[in-house]
Parts: sequence; C-alpha cells; structure tokens
Amino acid sequence: MIHDARSLRPGGRLRCDLCVIGSGPGGATVATLAAEAGLKVVVLEPGAFITPGQMTQREEQMLPRLLWQAGARMTRDHGTRIHQGKGVGGSSLHNLNLCKRIDPVLLEHWRTTRGLEPLTTAAWAALYTEVEALLSVSTVPESAWNRHNQILRDGCAALGWRGGGLAHNRTGCLGSGFCELGCAFDAKNNAAKVLVPRLVRAGGTIVTHAQAVRLVTAGGRVRGVEAVLVDGDDPQRIGRLEIEAPRVCVSASATGTPALLLRSGVLDPGGETGRRLRLHPAVVVAGDFDTPVRAWEGIPQTYECSEHLDLTPGSDRRLWIVPAFGHPMGVATMLPGHGPVHAELMGRFAHMAVLVAMLHDETAGVVEPDGELGLSVDYRPIAADRRALAEGLKHCARLLFAAGARRVVVPTYDLRILTRPEEVDGLVEVAIRPDTISLSAVHPMGSVPMGGDPRHSAVDAFGRHHHVAGLWISDGSLFPTSIGGPPQLSIYALGLHVGRALVAAG
Ligand SMILES: Cc1cc2nc3c(=O)[nH]c(=O)nc-3n(C[C@H](O)[C@H](O)[C@H](O)COP(=O)(O)OP(=O)(O)OC[C@H]3O[C@@H](n4cnc5c(N)ncnc54)[C@H](O)[C@@H]3O)c2cc1C
Ligand code: SF4
Repeated sequence: MIHDARSLRPGGRLRCDLCVIGSGPGGATVATLAAEAGLKVVVLEPGAFITPGQMTQREEQMLPRLLWQAGARMTRDHGTRIHQGKGVGGSSLHNLNLCKRIDPVLLEHWRTTRGLEPLTTAAWAALYTEVEALLSVSTVPESAWNRHNQILRDGCAALGWRGGGLAHNRTGCLGSGFCELGCAFDAKNNAAKVLVPRLVRAGGTIVTHAQAVRLVTAGGRVRGVEAVLVDGDDPQRIGRLEIEAPRVCVSASATGTPALLLRSGVLDPGGETGRRLRLHPAVVVAGDFDTPVRAWEGIPQTYECSEHLDLTPGSDRRLWIVPAFGHPMGVATMLPGHGPVHAELMGRFAHMAVLVAMLHDETAGVVEPDGELGLSVDYRPIAADRRALAEGLKHCARLLFAAGARRVVVPTYDLRILTRPEEVDGLVEVAIRPDTISLSAVHPMGSVPMGGDPRHSAVDAFGRHHHVAGLWISDGSLFPTSIGGPPQLSIYALGLHVGRALVAAG
C-alpha cells in the first residue's frame, strides 16, 4: 500500500521488520527484496507518489514536486547547485536514464584499497547483468540520436576524439524530450515502475510525505526511526510518526543519509560519515548554430565524448562530456547577464547546443545536518579539480566550434562569447570560483564509503554498519570514490547486493 502521510493520524506509531528510509534506486531495491522474502517493510519518503499522468511537462509545476528545494539546493558557498530528486522513486523519476557500468579498473582499486573482498569484478559483473535485465537496458539506436547529440558526435569526429553511443533504461519511448520533468508516457524503467509495484504486491508499505529525522538506537542496536510528516514544497511539519523496527536501511541519498546518521549521533570512530562527498561538479558551454538545433526534441542524452576520461587511479584525464539540454526556465537561469544581452541569447534558444563537462572529482565535500529537516553541503573544489573544470570549458568550446558553431557562449558571470576557435585555449585561465562561474551537480556520492576496516569506515562491503547492529545503508553514499559516470546502474546493483545480505542476516 502507498499511504499519504497527510491523511494519517498525527502522532502515530508503526511496527515492522524493516524500515527503509528513502525510495530511490538504493532504497526501493532493498525494500522490494526484503518484502519478497517475507519481511514486513515500511518505506518512508518525504516526496509524493507521482503517477505518469501527473507529469504535466511544465517546469514551474514539476521542478518543485520532483526536486529538493525545487532544484535550488546549493553548496554553502553558493558555488555549486545540487539537483536531487524526491518522490516515490527518488531521482530515478526525473533522471536522464543513462546506464553505464563502472570501469573494472576502478572496482578493482576499491576492492584492494578499501578491503571490499566480496565485491570482486566478477561479483559486480553478475550484479550488473541482473540489473540490466531488471531495467531492460538497451543501447539507444542511432536513429534516435537527435541533432543535439549528432553535434557532439560531429565534433568528436572532426577532432578525432573518442566518443560513442550510450545505453538507457527506456521502453516505448516516444522521444518527447521531457525526461527531466518526469515521463508522462511511463517509458522510463525506473524504481517507481520496475520495483514499487513488486514491493506493494509483496505487502510492503510506502508512507509518502514522511521524512526520517532521527534513528533510534539503544545497546548498540537500531530500534527504530523518528519521522516528521511534511507538507508543501517548503515543507511544513504537520505531525510525527514513530517506527519500531529491528532493522533499518538508510537510503536517503548521498546527502540525506550522512545528514541523518550524524543527526542521530551514530557511532563512527573513523569519522568518514559525511566527510568524503563527491559531486561530479560540471561546467556547461553553449554553441550557437546557424540552423536550428531544437535540442528539446528527442531523447536528451545519447552520445558521449570519452576522450578526456580515464578512470585509472591517478589519471589526469577526468572529464566526461555529454550534451546538456535545458528547458527554457533552466537555460534562462543558467545564462548570465540581464536585459537585452540576456534576451538576445534566449532568442537563440532554438539554435543553441549545450555541452556539459562533468568531473570525476577528488575534492572531499562535507555534509552536515542543519536543524531537524535540513542539511548543508560544504564543497570547495581543490586546485586540481578547478584546473580540470577550466580544461572542461576548453574541450566543450573546441567540440562546438569543430561541429560548426558560429559562436560559443561561456556562462562565466562576466559572460564570454568566443567567435574564433583560436580563442578557446584562453579558457584554461578561467578561475573556477563561486564569484566567476556557477557549477552544477547531479551525482552526489561517496559520503558514507564502504570499507572492510571498522577503524576507518562506517559500513562494510555489504552496506552493513560496522558499529550499530541492524543498521544498513543502500544508496550512492556507499561508493568509495567518485565513479566518473552515471551512477544509477551501480546503485541498483548495490541495492541487490545489500538487500540479499540483509535478508540473509535474518
Ligand atoms: C537531473 C538529473 C539527471 C540524472 N541523470 C542520470 C542518468 O542519466 N543516469 C544515471 O545513472 N544517473 C542519473 N542521475 C543520478 C541518479 O538519478 C542518482 O544517482 C540516483 O537516483 C541516486 O539514487 P539513490 O538511491 O542514492 O538516491 P535518490 O535517488 O536521491 O533517492 C533518495 C530518496 O531518499 C529520500 N529522502 C531523502 N532524505 C530523506 C529522509 N530524511 N527521510 C526519508 N527519505 C528521504 C529522497 O526524497 C529520495 O526519494 C541524474 C540525476 C539528476 C538530478
Ligand atoms: S523522451 Fe522518452 S523517456 Fe523521456 S519523457 Fe519522453 S517518452 Fe519519456
């Protein structure tokens, strides 16, 4: 059953075998496996249950419903905007459906440096095969690459740079282009479509508009969860709910999970909880083309440039480049300037192609709770990451010129408009700072990293907390480092891995 907490009696109490906090890829997977194994499962989710029919394709309506702080969650210095989803299905509701395995070289690095013996590359490969079947992952056919993606392909071809088509978890996609606002056609094989019906069929309960605020522990064991019932986009407290449970799986995302653990005072002698957050911070660059690009038509991301990405630890090629389509409101807020300058650029909306260079980052960000419902993120890119992001501006500009852009727009606050390819080299001099350029991030991860040694890490290679019995983690927090690519496939995979371990632990 899916209950809306706004219709529950305030001050209530529930009892279950397992409480799962958060319904994104990490939480929904564990909840489904546990319910199917016969456990009584309650999932708490602060967002709403939004059906495909309720996805209105309007930015002003969907962004507040689908994203935390309507998409305006910022790091403490306002340098990076972090997009994170809420609602039953978490960020899988509005994400862009790219599916990619983590490079085995990185998986092997994790296994040997973090003591993750059970997570061999063979174990990961088996999990990936299972998840790809679960989500019906397929390669996007070339016939579905829109002009926006063809521009990136053309830029790569002209420069002789490595690139290729991407895989996704869509079935029956009409190419409407509205993925970031949720799919009105139910073509996304996301957590809400693939897992939630199974969870409900197996007797699981989801309570929406319920935000966990504290874990209850006693005698080294988890005993339950305190939650606040919330309403509205700027959530108002409307009641409280207590869950009694001998097992709790925290899956509140790589920001929400450490914030909850820290607010609850959960033991972590190594002090890693909330202190190793990675974000994949990104810069965008736009190219203005003579003929219309109409980037809003078709599947948003189908082609990648991997020329500047090498996930071998220590590599200085750490940039992943893909097209970045924005709906009009998103683009208008991203473009600097005012009045006629801004209006002139927006007037070229149909002719713009936008590339994003996303960084496989090494900066360790810090997550902390902020009051009972909030959290704060302190993320200040280290010098090497700032240099790499400036290189990213250069690479994107070069690709756009190579594909035929007549001018390239770099959205630094002192707007730069390049009209000649020779100008791109100067972009490496751009100082990446909160007062020069806005960064964006859609892949928070690594904030409660797995590790075999309880002196250093909070959770083991099965997502089981080293120091509190009955407590589990399953979400993007578990990655020991950045992964340099789209994370959802690996989060679902870890969800299967953690879920099975939880069930087996009895
Ligand atoms: C615009 C955008 C595009 C993306 N595109 C892709 C893509 O193409 N491919 C890809 O692999 N990844 C993509 N991602 C990232 C991907 O969606 C996430 O990495 C993934 O969904 C994370 O899964 P998760 O389970 O860790 O957390 P989430 O999906 O964030 O789920 C966490 C859930 O926990 C809930 N929650 C938070 N706090 C609490 C609390 N205190 N109590 C109860 N519940 C709580 C949240 O509301 C949320 O529903 C994209 C992300 C964005 C923002
Ligand atoms: S492009 Fe496909 S998956 Fe995206 S919203 Fe449209 S129909 Fe849905």
